[in-house]
Amino acid sequence: MLDSATSILNALQSGDVTACEVVEKSLAAIDSTQSSINAYTHVARESALAAAQQVDTDRKAGKTLVPLAGLPVAVKDVLCTNNMPTTCSSNMLRDFVPPYDATVVARLKAAGAIVMGKTNMDEFAMGASTETSAMGLTRNPWNPEYTPGGSSGGAAAAVAAGTVPLSIGTDTGGSIRQPAAFCGVTGLKPTYGRCSRYGLVAFASSLDQAGPMGWSVEDVAVAMQAMAGYDPADSTSVDHDVPDYRAVLASTDLRGIKIGVLRDSTNQDGVSDSVRKAVSDAEKVYRELGAEIVEISLEHSPYWVPTYYVIAPCEASSNLSRFDGAHYGFRAAEGARADSDLEGADEMGPLESMYRNSRAAGFGSEVKRRIIVGTYALSEGYYDAYYNQALKVRRLIRGDYDAAFTQADLLLGPVTPSPAFALGENKDDPIAMYLCDLFTVGANLAGVPAISLPAGQDESGLPVGIQLQAPVMEESRLLFAGNAFQSVTQHHQARPTGVSA
Ligand code: GLN
Repeated sequence: MLDSATSILNALQSGDVTACEVVEKSLAAIDSTQSSINAYTHVARESALAAAQQVDTDRKAGKTLVPLAGLPVAVKDVLCTNNMPTTCSSNMLRDFVPPYDATVVARLKAAGAIVMGKTNMDEFAMGASTETSAMGLTRNPWNPEYTPGGSSGGAAAAVAAGTVPLSIGTDTGGSIRQPAAFCGVTGLKPTYGRCSRYGLVAFASSLDQAGPMGWSVEDVAVAMQAMAGYDPADSTSVDHDVPDYRAVLASTDLRGIKIGVLRDSTNQDGVSDSVRKAVSDAEKVYRELGAEIVEISLEHSPYWVPTYYVIAPCEASSNLSRFDGAHYGFRAAEGARADSDLEGADEMGPLESMYRNSRAAGFGSEVKRRIIVGTYALSEGYYDAYYNQALKVRRLIRGDYDAAFTQADLLLGPVTPSPAFALGENKDDPIAMYLCDLFTVGANLAGVPAISLPAGQDESGLPVGIQLQAPVMEESRLLFAGNAFQSVTQHHQARPTGVSA
């Protein structure tokens, strides 16, 4: 089990350990958990060892080291990594090795972090359990019969299993926060535009955002410092100064801060007792820390999931049209498929049949479902009824947040309706799977930052999370309040007793 990022960095900086020792320990932890947990789609053994060697050589030569020099991190397989496979856990990209790094990866590397490997995910980040991966499912280190959540399930499990102190996930509708909650780690979804999306294989471009996952808020702050900031290569990245995220951790005094509790969410039917208890316990903690508690309701929250499940598939159907076997991705042979019963299949020319066969064989069924829904909702005659309508509701949802933040500095509520569910439980029930996103998609639709914090365990020992949300560009506020919570609670220090290194 690797230590927290902050303690590894301290040990590296004081010379108590070498970067090679840290990386070897990470590799040993990956080796001992990979067959049971399957958090990784690729382990970058050679390049990680070479990078560690370089850090140690530089140190011996007396060079000033960059802030994260020697720190192992894992990267979700939807972010491009130079010379390292980037599959999106899809057969479509099984053989794709990008010739460049995503900006967030490049920035972490420039800060000295060492990429240990790529982590498993739901195919093209569509899902909430990592079960739609074409690379096999990932198990929850707290209980291997349960899912780690998704879509960044591998990234959360990689930290929870003790193989790396930090991982990078992406969050389009909850994919950092939900797996963080299921695996008992801290996960931050930044403001839309805070971190560059350059090199992030697009699922839903107006919602996608990369962010860090680690044991503690302090570790997440360390990663954010390296990742955040304007990037001219991403036209939606925001040119806004990056504050000193660690500086805000110095105080844990919440006097003068108003926390709006989303009571409507917590009181909803189907929310488990353990989740309700975690939120009400957190409310007490915040009150003791000096915060004023107010009640907030976000009027259009019942429309979050339906709105998301129109907009996200529409964008996905457009983004994924590039994977046709010619421009990008897996190519199947031309000609009619043996199992084809599609009308008109016989008359298809070689190019069209090659496209069709490539997409039929390259994509899994959840991805196909999203493409079909999105294509339908964008088609002539339905565009206004679905897509345009969803955009209007999205505007109202953002309005709710704007109004809420005139009454409260932060919003507190659940991350998910329940703790981790068993593997297979929701696999064949898309609606049940989509309802995992009940409390997370609001932040994506509104573009606001949100953090998931470990906040207890249920009766069977599975982790439970809570969520804080803040106004745009106020990641510092989330880190400040999250750290204050962790300064007086031990939930983030609990470690799995199931399978971990
Ligand atoms: N579970 C959501 C979905 O399936 C969110 C996925 C994500 O954030 N990438 O779309």
